Amino acid sequence: MFENLSDRLSGVFDRLTKQGALSEEDVRAALREVRVALLEADVSLPVTRDFIKRVQKKATGASVTKSITPGQQVVKIVHDELIAMLEGDEAAEALKIDNPPAPVLMVGLQGSGKTTTTAKLARRLKDREGKRVLMASLDTNRPAAMEQLAILGTQIGVDTLPIVKGQSAVDIAKRAKQQATLGGYDVYLLDTAGRLHIDDVLMDEVLAVRNAVTPRETLLVVDGLTGQDAVNVAAEFDGKVGVSGVVLTRMDGDGRGGAALSMRAVTGKPIRFVGLGEKTDALEVFDPKRVAGRILG
Ligand code: GDP
Repeated sequence: MFENLSDRLSGVFDRLTKQGALSEEDVRAALREVRVALLEADVSLPVTRDFIKRVQKKATGASVTKSITPGQQVVKIVHDELIAMLEGDEAAEALKIDNPPAPVLMVGLQGSGKTTTTAKLARRLKDREGKRVLMASLDTNRPAAMEQLAILGTQIGVDTLPIVKGQSAVDIAKRAKQQATLGGYDVYLLDTAGRLHIDDVLMDEVLAVRNAVTPRETLLVVDGLTGQDAVNVAAEFDGKVGVSGVVLTRMDGDGRGGAALSMRAVTGKPIRFVGLGEKTDALEVFDPKRVAGRILG
């Protein structure tokens, strides 16, 4: 998912680590290339600028040019700063789904991969954590979306709330809560309706559902291929309804990775998972250290 960025950076760092002594100008030139590589990966300009500034400061402070392995020293600083950028102040904690039944609200624009991600997450919770999971679609505008979730549920062996026509999203959410309580489920995932754009109707509905069930987690699903747009959508959703974490989908595509890199710095919200394909097992926990490692090859 970060192939281009990774190639660019390894080129810069190869040259740097091959050099014996480094002048401050060598470091500056390398960082100029890192800056271009980040921008080309669609990392936002302010985030890139801050990043380079922090690396520059550390590189100067660490007297990199006097170090025995100056090139490696710069690479290490970039590596550490990448982790800091992806992780924020503290590591993203696991989903808060103790105290059953825990409601998890899935929100996002239509087509972002929300329904697929709901099923992926349900499968993961069931198979890896042994949770009893219930899923419910609140997409009253699109009966096909409700059916899609039911079909996925059957495929992965996770129960879905029976579809009752004519109910509002809030009615369905309350019914899911009741069934989750009576049925002894550990967690219930609410797949809310998406729209093509953020609008008041969508936000009001999410807020009404939120008030009805008080979700333990509100996960925003965004399309990682949309780069900075994904970050803007996340900031807007968070401002309007509040989200506890982000799931970036389509990270198996040829996106440039910028969304993943800017998300935490711009929105302050952790990326919890990334979607890496259409199948229901193509969901990975987002691990900043591993991602930083992958980027730097
Ligand atoms: P929703 O409208 O937000 O509920 O979106 P869907 O869950 O229906 O997904 C829209 C399309 O994106 C479907 O064809 C999914 O198979 C596909 N999709 C979802 N997540 C991923 C992913 O991580 N990678 C890829 N390649 N496709 C995905």
